[in-house]
Amino acid sequence: MIEPTNEKNATVQNIYRQLGISDQVYLFGQEILAQLRLRFDEIDQTAEYNQLKVLKAMQDNKVSEACLLGTTGYGYNDLGRDTLEAVYASIFHAEDALVRPQITCGTHALALALMSNLRPGDELLSPVGKPYDTLEEVIGIRPSKGSLAEYGISYRQVDLLADGSFDYDGIRAALSAKTRLVTIQRSKGYQTRPTLSVKKIGELISFIKEINPNTICMVDNCYGEFVECIEPSDVGADMVVGSLIKNPGGGLAPIGGYIVGKKECVENAAYRLTSPGLGKEVGASLGILRDFYHGLFLAPTVTAGALKGAIFAANIYEKLGFKVVPNSTEPRHDIIQAVTFGTAEGVIAFCKGIQAAAPVDSFVTPEPWDMPGYDAQVIMAAGAFVSGSSIELSADGPIKPPFAVYFQGGLTFAHAQFGIMKTLQSVVDAGIVHI
Ligand SMILES: *Cc1c(COP(=O)(O)O)cnc(C)c1O
Repeated sequence: MIEPTNEKNATVQNIYRQLGISDQVYLFGQEILAQLRLRFDEIDQTAEYNQLKVLKAMQDNKVSEACLLGTTGYGYNDLGRDTLEAVYASIFHAEDALVRPQITCGTHALALALMSNLRPGDELLSPVGKPYDTLEEVIGIRPSKGSLAEYGISYRQVDLLADGSFDYDGIRAALSAKTRLVTIQRSKGYQTRPTLSVKKIGELISFIKEINPNTICMVDNCYGEFVECIEPSDVGADMVVGSLIKNPGGGLAPIGGYIVGKKECVENAAYRLTSPGLGKEVGASLGILRDFYHGLFLAPTVTAGALKGAIFAANIYEKLGFKVVPNSTEPRHDIIQAVTFGTAEGVIAFCKGIQAAAPVDSFVTPEPWDMPGYDAQVIMAAGAFVSGSSIELSADGPIKPPFAVYFQGGLTFAHAQFGIMKTLQSVVDAGIVHI
């Protein structure tokens, strides 16, 4: 047993006790943390770079106090909105950006990017296997009203090889004169494949462009922003798409999505979001811009805290003998951590711990329920300031084999750290592990 080394440690340990963390769990966590300092230094360095990248973009584009105000009605000449879009374009080293509260979520941003850049007779290709669940209905993999399939846009998919690498032969064979757009999902989402590094995405884009230079390469960047010093637009992506209630909103954006990339692609999306003829010229920002700017400014360090939390969780649960993806030492390319418990009790106890650690609704107990669209019950834990926000501390897991829980977020590392300790306390109290 490690004794507290000074008065401050004792004070910290004491408040953990008051919040229901036993000395045993606290010290188990401290031992793991002590081994992660070098790793955390590296993450801080990425955050430092990204912080300055964001700051420089704000300065270069002359963000002023007036930009923080909003417009109403049509929103013509919305200085804050137009400047924010220029800031996003600078950060992503892209020609243009569409960053709007009228984009309701990540799925909407992706659907918008696809529907506005594809025309009847075109083909869409995913060279990285099955896309995120909600996109199945957008594409029409699962028949759905308004899908791309209904508009005569066909879809092809090339799965990753068993070792997680690209099936270059398969991709070459799938590319044709019809292939107008290729969609590349950076994050593994809720699958077991590895998350793609930006460098790997760049290699894939180069390969595709060599065969079909005119094919639009789009990247679903959800959960990936600010995890590395470069973004997919730095390695040739024509369009990069994501949600503001994940990394780039910094926890403060209450809604929104973004599309950055080639001017033509972004313009197409703008004409689809508003109307042909109107494009980016309308769309009042109301009072939301201050949160968009403020959140973007904090996003690099918020993402860093979430990453540290994911690594902390991986190290704890791997040490206790559970399979964790990514594992305790792998490099990270998104903020999601999967832990396979192998039992429903494990998944439930973990989620109860996350809920009990929340700043909002900490007193409620999450239970598995029949969520629409899923073939098994799902348990979700989130006590967030922004409903459903997954840059805030959150976890969910389907109650079916292999009984894995997916954990992400934490607006500060101190909170992510506490949340993970709370999960450990919960699985210890449930008798699932012994430390
Ligand atoms: C979250 C996510 C989406 C969809 O975003 P929503 O805001 O939930 O609609 C799409 N792709 C990936 C990889 C995601 O993580």
